[in-house]
Amino acid sequence: MIGQAWHTLTAQEVSTQLNVDSAVGLTAADARQRLTQFGSNRLRQEKHEPVWEIFLEELREPMVLLLLFTGVLYAIWGELSDTLTIFFVILTLTAVEVVNERRASKAIAALSRLAEPTALVRRNGQAIELPAEQVAPGDVILLEAGRRISADARLIETYGLAVDESALTGESLPVEKEADITVAEQAALAERRNLVFAGTSIARGRGVAMVVATGMSAELGRIADLAHEVEPPRTPLQKAMSSLSKSLVWLALGFSVMVPVLGVVLSGQPLRQMLLTGLSLAFATIPEEMPIIITMVLALGAYRLSKQRAIAKRLQAVETLGAVTVIATDKTGTLTENRMEVSRFCPDARRSKLLEVGVLCNDATENGQGDPLEAALLRAARRTGLDVQALRQAYPLMDEFTFDNTRKRMSVIYQRAGKKWVSVKGAPESVLALSNYQWTEAGQQPLTEAERQSTLTMAARMASEGLRVIAFAETTAQADRLAQEQAESDLTFVGLVGLADPPRPEVKPSIRACQSAGIRPIMITGDHPLMAKAIAHEVGLDGAGQVLTGPELDALSDEALVQTVGQVSLYARTTPEHKLRIVRALHRRDEVVAVTGDGINDAPALAAADIGVAMGETGTDVAREAAALVLADDNFATIVRATEEGRILFENLKKGVRYYLTCKVALVTATLLPVLLRVPVPFAPVQIILMELFMDLAAAATFVAEPAESGLMQRPPRDSKKPFMDRAMVSSIFTSAIGLFGAVSVAYLVTWYGTADLAKAQTMAFVTWLLGHVLLALNMRSEHEPLFHLGLFSNRLMIVWGLATMLFVLIVTLVPGLRSALKLEALSGGNWALAIGAALVGTFWIEARKLITFE
Ligand code: ATP
Repeated sequence: MIGQAWHTLTAQEVSTQLNVDSAVGLTAADARQRLTQFGSNRLRQEKHEPVWEIFLEELREPMVLLLLFTGVLYAIWGELSDTLTIFFVILTLTAVEVVNERRASKAIAALSRLAEPTALVRRNGQAIELPAEQVAPGDVILLEAGRRISADARLIETYGLAVDESALTGESLPVEKEADITVAEQAALAERRNLVFAGTSIARGRGVAMVVATGMSAELGRIADLAHEVEPPRTPLQKAMSSLSKSLVWLALGFSVMVPVLGVVLSGQPLRQMLLTGLSLAFATIPEEMPIIITMVLALGAYRLSKQRAIAKRLQAVETLGAVTVIATDKTGTLTENRMEVSRFCPDARRSKLLEVGVLCNDATENGQGDPLEAALLRAARRTGLDVQALRQAYPLMDEFTFDNTRKRMSVIYQRAGKKWVSVKGAPESVLALSNYQWTEAGQQPLTEAERQSTLTMAARMASEGLRVIAFAETTAQADRLAQEQAESDLTFVGLVGLADPPRPEVKPSIRACQSAGIRPIMITGDHPLMAKAIAHEVGLDGAGQVLTGPELDALSDEALVQTVGQVSLYARTTPEHKLRIVRALHRRDEVVAVTGDGINDAPALAAADIGVAMGETGTDVAREAAALVLADDNFATIVRATEEGRILFENLKKGVRYYLTCKVALVTATLLPVLLRVPVPFAPVQIILMELFMDLAAAATFVAEPAESGLMQRPPRDSKKPFMDRAMVSSIFTSAIGLFGAVSVAYLVTWYGTADLAKAQTMAFVTWLLGHVLLALNMRSEHEPLFHLGLFSNRLMIVWGLATMLFVLIVTLVPGLRSALKLEALSGGNWALAIGAALVGTFWIEARKLITFE
């Protein structure tokens, strides 16, 4: 289909060419066939990198190359068993890396699939929601404000449709679209006003269009730069860790040179042996894994979040979630069920007239897709016996001015008995301000100021009962084409409808959980202040009970607002601009803000927040794109659970990195001390390499599986300004390292000075290290909570790793062949007692300290 000048054809010609009846759309079989023929509607074909390719990539990592080089040296010097051990370690490490990388990238791929946009498509005469990639040429797509367009399409019907094409053409103002025109062949993209393009989004209005090009054939596909894959931006923590590990590399390298040099110079160790020791030490101490640990934890954390129905679109959100101090939420759908039902008509006698306007001024599809408020109006109309479909067909739609939460109303223009009619619905203040008449059975009458005021009082009373109140009005129009201001003026007010939407039962406990976790929930709603108050009261979010309205907020200077947002937790009759101002004011108070949003205009506030949260069910594509987190169930409780996950994750990251660095420090010091004492190095090179293997496995995998510590949500949020590696962490790394270093040194030096048997002493050091570093990992599962309180078995992965390490120790010390391959010696009962005793004392003092200080 590439190369067709679709804009030069009429809608009818396009339908004929594509062989689709636009009233019915494609059939399922037809769609399948077209998808096979033209491919799915994706910009990039997913790259399936075979495992062996990833494997080869990992083998090219500098650390692995270093190890390979060491292995080759061993081979050259004829140490076959060492060479084999090194190759075994290389294979194991690389396999673990491949598995880790695949887990992380699978998690990320699964997430991006969840966050992918959908399209509303007419198939077999029914409107259905489909993943955008299943849209095929010939599909009839239904367009509505806030949706992202999933493929290039020729417009068939338009009602006040305007599209934001900035993503494609750079034009920042919405482009008005028209179905009934044809455009010259050489017209530029921006002038093809009878087409809509993939990647752009609908600013206002409605329309129906037939897809003419998908995937790479769409205009977006042609301009997309496919030369480079877009790497997701790195999170602040990833950046900080990369630069930290880069500076630590020099330290590690310096040390790996120093130890062998000192070994040769001070104690006359053989040069060849020292060279291998240096290489092994470099391999074991360079903290190369650190950025990888961070990425792994974030990616797997994001995956875990998605199981909780919160989809992180950026890894950064996962990192920030645990630091959130304010959750600014809207009301409908997040705090309430969004299962609206019409419950009051005012005046009740105008019920059927109200519902008639409610059906005509309504974007929901007949099978109930769309805004829940509008779907509720359709249901109420059906209950009173109104034939929704017949009514809509009898009075065909001509134009529409979409609802937006700044105007707080919407209007449609339709044809009725040869005339143009305008139906309007919206917030009572917004509609009444434009009404000069009121509708009565006997014909229209002037609307006096007193009547206007008493209607507003009535609306306030309904709102204070927790009802969402909508006002309805209509008018007739003369002009051929009407601008919005003309259409929405001199209206005839019809009446009010009150809709009930009960709060979600899980919200109240979540609000309480927030409060005890030091997170302040605030509500920012476009609804009436009294309704905001009623719902806030029901869910326990009243704070001081004060409500600030949009107009009151306008009267405050930015400075005054910074003060106000410190106290007021309820904001009503706000527009998206107000939301943005509130977010900025909160930022000036150094708060870390999560903000929810669903509307077309919410994108700026979502982008400005530390974490923009969009609604997966009812939100617009535009809001979803601007957000960092998408809630699959739109539920406030999910945000709170996500912040908890965020906290767990951050803690686990700290634990993993703390353990990893502690091991490195312990290894460095335990190797350095004997050299300074003019005693041989306590580990043979192959032993060092094996030690690194076990320690890596623990740090990169087992701490990720750590469950939440008790009291995690009873603490205030962490200070996001504090560096990840704060002083407390550095000092805890060193104090924890001292124990392991001490244990290994005692076991080694006692044996060395006692027997002068190097292999025996090295065996002691090796065994004490392996036992000690398992015990240390158990200790470091929590900084404050004793192990027995955490539950020894609550991190099963760590237990499995610990047991595997112990088993390894037993096998390599008991099986003679392996023993000699690893340069070990058999140990006596006394040796074992010393190794186990040293490992226990060296690490469990941390436990003892925790027991004393833990309340
Ligand atoms: P919430 O915080 O409850 O999600 P919101 O901030 O999204 O609310 P808006 O959707 O901006 O609130 O609604 C503001 C007002 O506009 C409502 O009180 C209602 O009177 C009116 N309104 C809402 N939806 C529609 C609609 N589809 N058509 C006309 N008026 C509407």
